[in-house]
Amino acid sequence: MSWRDLYCGALRSEHIGTRVTVAGWADTRRDHGGLVFIDLRDHTGKVQLVVNPERAADAAAAAHEIRNEFVLQAEGEVVARAPEAVNPNLPTGEVEIQVDTLRVLSRSTPLPFQVGEENVDETTRLKYRWLDMRGERMQHNLRLSHVAIAGIRRVMDERGFVDVWTPSMTRGTPEGARDFLTPVRLQPGKFFALAQSPQLFKQLCMVGGIDRYYQIATCWRDEDLRADRQFEFRQLDLELAFCEQQDVLDVMEAAVVGAFEAVGRTPPPRPFPQISFDEAMARYGSDKPDLRFEMEIQDATEVTRNSEFGVFKNAPCVRYLVIPKAISRSEHQRLEAMAKEWGAKGLAMLSQVSKFLSEGELSSFAVPEGSSALFVADDEPVVAKVLGLLRLHLARELDVIPETDVFHWVVDFPLFKLDEDSGEWTFMHHPFTAPAPGSESWDESNPADVRGQHYDLVWNGWELGSGSIRIHDVEVQQRVFRTMGLGEEEQQSKFGFLLEALAMGAPPHGGFAMGIERFVARLAGEPDIRQMVAFPKIASGSDPLTGAPTEMPDDVLRELGIKALPQENSSPG
Ligand code: ASP
Repeated sequence: MSWRDLYCGALRSEHIGTRVTVAGWADTRRDHGGLVFIDLRDHTGKVQLVVNPERAADAAAAAHEIRNEFVLQAEGEVVARAPEAVNPNLPTGEVEIQVDTLRVLSRSTPLPFQVGEENVDETTRLKYRWLDMRGERMQHNLRLSHVAIAGIRRVMDERGFVDVWTPSMTRGTPEGARDFLTPVRLQPGKFFALAQSPQLFKQLCMVGGIDRYYQIATCWRDEDLRADRQFEFRQLDLELAFCEQQDVLDVMEAAVVGAFEAVGRTPPPRPFPQISFDEAMARYGSDKPDLRFEMEIQDATEVTRNSEFGVFKNAPCVRYLVIPKAISRSEHQRLEAMAKEWGAKGLAMLSQVSKFLSEGELSSFAVPEGSSALFVADDEPVVAKVLGLLRLHLARELDVIPETDVFHWVVDFPLFKLDEDSGEWTFMHHPFTAPAPGSESWDESNPADVRGQHYDLVWNGWELGSGSIRIHDVEVQQRVFRTMGLGEEEQQSKFGFLLEALAMGAPPHGGFAMGIERFVARLAGEPDIRQMVAFPKIASGSDPLTGAPTEMPDDVLRELGIKALPQENSSPG
C-alpha cells in the first residue's frame, strides 16, 4: 500500500477528474453541520478536503472527530471548486478533493500553540519544536540551509576539495573560547576537549598531502549565547596547500556565489572588495564594518594637536562623525549617554564646543550646512569603537541603510594583541596565522606592528568567518608561541604534535572557516541563527525540548573520576 500518490501542495486543475490518495496533517477543520472541510497540510502546502455525508458516510463520521494536527490519509476525487470558492492565494486553490475514504493515522492531544501561530514565546516554540517545525518558517529555513549547503558542496567538489572527517573529541584548540570537556571512563580524571574548530587537523591534512580539504564541520565553543552564537555550530571549513591568500579568497567567493545560485538569488558581484583592518577601524570604527552606507568617521587628531581646547589637545586620538541632520540638545544628551555606556568620557557636539576652537580647526572640518558633527577624544580603540557603534545606531535610526548585499574582505590584521587582563601579548585570531611576508623576525617583546596574513569575510556588517595563511616553518611557529609567553616545555606539551609535523615537510598552506548558520540566517533574512537550527539552545544554555543539561547520578560521575560540587545559584534548566 502506498500512503500517498502526491504531496498536498502539488494538486492543480490538471488533476481534476483523477482519483488520488493524499496524507498529511489536519491544518484546520470547518464543520458545517453536514459538510466538513479539512485543510490537509504537508511540507509542500495545503489542499482542501471536502467530506460529504451523502457521498461517504463513514468518512463523515470520522471527520467529526478530527482535531488540528491529526494525521490523516484521504482518498477521493479531485474536483474543480465552485468559482466563488476558488482561493487565488493558495496554489491548490482551484481544486478540492471530494473524499471517499478517510483514515485517521494518528491523533493529537490539545496543542500548546497552533502551527504557524505568531507571537508564541520562544521557549514554548522550542519545547515543542516538532510542532514549530511543521510551520512554514522552519520548513523554509531548514530546506534553504540544505540547498545552500548543497550549492557549497558542489563548488567544493568541482574544485577538487576532499571531505575529510576530523575528530570532535580532541585536545583544546585555541580559538579564543572556553572548551567543552568530555570525561573519559577508560582514563578517569582525564578529559577530551570538544573541537572549537578542526584547525590543527586540517593543517595536519595539508602536511599529510590531502592538498585540498573541506568539511561542513561541527564546532563547540563554551561562550555566552547570542543572536549569532550557539554552543555548537557548523563551519564550512577548508584548507589548501601551496596557495596564496588570493587563492583562498577566490574559493570562498565561489562558495558564497554557489550558495546564492543554489537558492535562486542573484549572487554578489566578484571579486568582493577588500579593506585593510586599519582602514576599517579608522573609517568605520569596526573590523566588520557595514559598507552598505557611507557615514564615514573623520579624523581630527592632527588638526587639533595644538588646540586651545584641552579635551582635544590632550587626547591621543580625536575623530568625529557627521550626521546629516541638526541634532537637538536632548538628542545629544541621549546619544552621549549611549557613548558613555560604550566607554567614552563624553560626546562633544561641534556647535557646543566650536567657541573653544580656532578658525583653522573649524574650517578643516567637513560638516555641510544642516548637518551635525559628534566628536570623541580618547585612546584610539575607544574612539573607534564608540564612533563605530554610533555610526551603526544612527544609520538605523535615520533609516539610511539600503536593502542591498555587500560582501567584503577585511585584510592585513595585526598578528598579536595585548591581552587586557594579563597585560601579555597574545594572538589576534589563533596562533597559527603566518606573519606578513618579510616580517618573520619581530621584536618578541613588542610585536605591536607585525601584520598577519589573516582575512575576515563580512556580509552587511556580519562577520561570516575568518581564515589565514598558516605558518609552515617550525621556527616561526615557535617564535609566535614564545611571543605569547609559552616556554619550550609548554609548547611541547600543548603543541608538540604540531611542531613535529611542521618539522617533517609541511607545505605552505592556508584556509578559511565560515559559519554556516550565520550565513544561511542572512540568506533566509532571519535575525537570529536559532531560527536556522533544528534544535537550538536558549540563552541560558539549556535545551527546552529535552531539558538538557541535567545532573548525573553520583555512580556515573564516580566511574568518570568526577565529583560535582553543589551549586549555590544554579539556574533551573
Ligand atoms: N579555525 C578558524 C576559526 O574557526 C578559521 C581558520 O583560520 O580557518 O575561526
